Amino acid sequence: MSNNELDQLRSRVDEINLKLLDNINERARLVQEIGRVKEKQGTSRFDPVRERDMLNTIIDHNDGPFDNTTIEHIFKEVFKAGLDLLQDSHRKELLVSRKKKPTDTIVNVNGEEIGDGTPHFIFGPCAVESYDQVFEVARAIREKGLNLIRGGAFKPRTSPYDFQGLGMEGLKILRKAADENNLAVVSEIVNPADIEAAIEYVDIIQIGARNMQNFELLKAAGAARKPVLLKRGLSATLEEFMNAAEYIISQGNGDIILCERGIRTYERATRNTLDISAVPILKQETHLPVFVDVTHSTGRRDLLLPAAKAALAIGADGVMAEVHPDPAVALSDAAQQMNLEQFDHFFSELTRGK
Ligand code: PEP
Ligand code: MN
Repeated sequence: MSNNELDQLRSRVDEINLKLLDNINERARLVQEIGRVKEKQGTSRFDPVRERDMLNTIIDHNDGPFDNTTIEHIFKEVFKAGLDLLQDSHRKELLVSRKKKPTDTIVNVNGEEIGDGTPHFIFGPCAVESYDQVFEVARAIREKGLNLIRGGAFKPRTSPYDFQGLGMEGLKILRKAADENNLAVVSEIVNPADIEAAIEYVDIIQIGARNMQNFELLKAAGAARKPVLLKRGLSATLEEFMNAAEYIISQGNGDIILCERGIRTYERATRNTLDISAVPILKQETHLPVFVDVTHSTGRRDLLLPAAKAALAIGADGVMAEVHPDPAVALSDAAQQMNLEQFDHFFSELTRGK
């Protein structure tokens, strides 16, 4: 074959490529048009009967050299790309997305403007155990000029035999110690039925990792008029995480703080794997403030400070960490909570020069 002949054949292939490109995009535009019509009618975008009809017609016309299976495969990919296009444009329209609202959401609690571009902090014990325990931590937080305290009253424990928390009694203790130190309260709620009673004592409703896809709880938190701190699920993708936040905002509550708390991987050196790149991704894709919980992500006291520095350096709006007056006797997460002295050191190192 002469080079000239090869060049001619190649230039015909090039031409066909461009025609295919035109046709594929023309088809995509029609699919989008159909999507809009279907949306008005309220009918489903995916229509398997219609797909089967299209494939049958195509195969009826197939006279090779590709066999029918290959042709079906190629066209199925084209159909799928069309459907993805519709879903993609739908995803871009999530209420939590930056496409929908380009400006940062600022969650206002007790003088803290979370998401305003300066770092914010949530400290406190893993679980509320007693008034004295919470008061000691609350005072240490207040001494640092901070405004928020956390503490679990309803503890979603992996084992049913582990300490489950003091429940409403724990919330009352937390509220009292917080009020005495002018702090706002962050606490986890696990049961949608508890929200109404709990919001008398809680300023920010925490939804824990184990409940990130508890959709009834998400809806109930969305219906409440209180900010929500939503933690990423143990094995949740960022898309699933954003959709969980969407459940809350779609009920009318846009005061949402996302919290990266580590995900489950094969690595055992840390309790979970802190997905640090989740922070800039969530900041780009959503308008919500993003926190990093360094306690549950690392599960290691020696990693709390470097992880917190990394979180702020990469653009997190704040850091959460657990503090207990005597971690050795804590009823949960004894190995990873800071004592008050370690807390002082952690906070002064983290904010040094700021
Ligand atoms: C907590 O913050 O108290 C907690 C239980 O964390 P997570 O839901 O992230 O495990
Ligand atoms: Mn804990």
